[in-house]
Amino acid sequence: MGPRAQGTEAAEAAAEGRFDAKAFKRALNKNLNYNRNGFGYKEEMLEKMSQEYTSDLITKLKENNNEYTIGDVTISLAKSYGFCWGVERAVQMAYEARKHYPEQKMWITNEIIHNPTVNNKLKDMDIQYIPVDNEVKDFTVVDDGDVVILPAFGATVQEMRLLSDRGVKMVDTTCPWVSKVWNTVEKHRVKTYTSVIHGKYSHEETVATASFAGTYIIVKNMTEANYVCDYILGGKLDGSSGTREEFLEKFKFAISKDFDPDTDLDRLGIANQTTMLKGETEAIGKLLERTMMQKFGPAEVNDHFMSFNTICDATQERQDAMFELVEEPLDMMIVVGGYNSSNTSHLQEIAEQRNIPSFWVDSADRVGPGNKIAHRLLYGELVEKDNWLPDGPVKIGITSGASTPDKVVEDVLNKVFAIKADMYSTAAVA
Ligand code: SF4
Repeated sequence: MGPRAQGTEAAEAAAEGRFDAKAFKRALNKNLNYNRNGFGYKEEMLEKMSQEYTSDLITKLKENNNEYTIGDVTISLAKSYGFCWGVERAVQMAYEARKHYPEQKMWITNEIIHNPTVNNKLKDMDIQYIPVDNEVKDFTVVDDGDVVILPAFGATVQEMRLLSDRGVKMVDTTCPWVSKVWNTVEKHRVKTYTSVIHGKYSHEETVATASFAGTYIIVKNMTEANYVCDYILGGKLDGSSGTREEFLEKFKFAISKDFDPDTDLDRLGIANQTTMLKGETEAIGKLLERTMMQKFGPAEVNDHFMSFNTICDATQERQDAMFELVEEPLDMMIVVGGYNSSNTSHLQEIAEQRNIPSFWVDSADRVGPGNKIAHRLLYGELVEKDNWLPDGPVKIGITSGASTPDKVVEDVLNKVFAIKADMYSTAAVA
């Protein structure tokens, strides 16, 4: 069966106005232009990545029970940090694709992961971004025979359909954990539950998840979830909600087409962006369940609330390790990860909540020259700080987001050691 015939199931559904994302994905899996398993060069590419991205210093730290002292700097590394398997798999597949298609023009629909070092590496391999004009991707640049990579946090179903219809080769590196969330919202859709997606409405993963959902609303935190639940209970939760018009205005970028808060909030299912704070997703799920119980009574709750665990293990492990690390007596934290990385932002959030001075950097270039750092805070711009490393002994906690190669962490730490060494040589000369 050729690619066209394989798309029939989804095409028929679409023609009848009942686009079936699941059927489309099933058809796509049989499409000869579509690859989501790599090309048989896994070991070779992992070896190449190991040369480019791993770090002797981090290996040494791990061998030493995650603690290491040089001079008067003691580094304490989180028990879980850095590249998750979904990210490693995505990068490996992109490397494989380049080897398999050495001559073809190769595109990617978005950053493969949120890390500038890795993204620059792909650029060097002549993998280009689909250009964006007025916030709309211009797929007309893709010619027959080109290869298009879909990143680790997926692509929208509309983009996949477009590429499938164009007959271009697709290499889909979407993390299976993200696909699991898509399956969850698909279940909500089939059973006519509204998906409440805990995420950021503009994050690529959430945009993709929403594209697979039927009726949905995206809430970014507990405050927004409270607002929704208060509306459901007619203002009897905490009085934070407003009128129907105010509701629609507040969530105008975060709801499905024709969303009606008066009719679409009777049956709810929870789903999440895989990199959100795990505890917050759980708390939102419990709040929704309690709200449904209050509105419809305990006997009816199962008809009004649906929950599956869609929190990714890697996110959970990194957050748990961070909670453990911040229990130690630390003078400061360094969080390494891309500034648009959601999971990194939550690691920074944990440090800031504990009032630990925490410096979030995306590469070693942010450190120096001299005892200076340019870093990001959870809410805010990039800020610069002079004399950020103190005289005398210092204990620094360090962690990195799921998209961050160990090599970047090593480069940051080497800058720290160099600054401290410099302080002593300057003092000695004086
Ligand atoms: S953080 Fe989780 S969902 Fe995201 S790529 Fe890694 S394993 Fe997959």
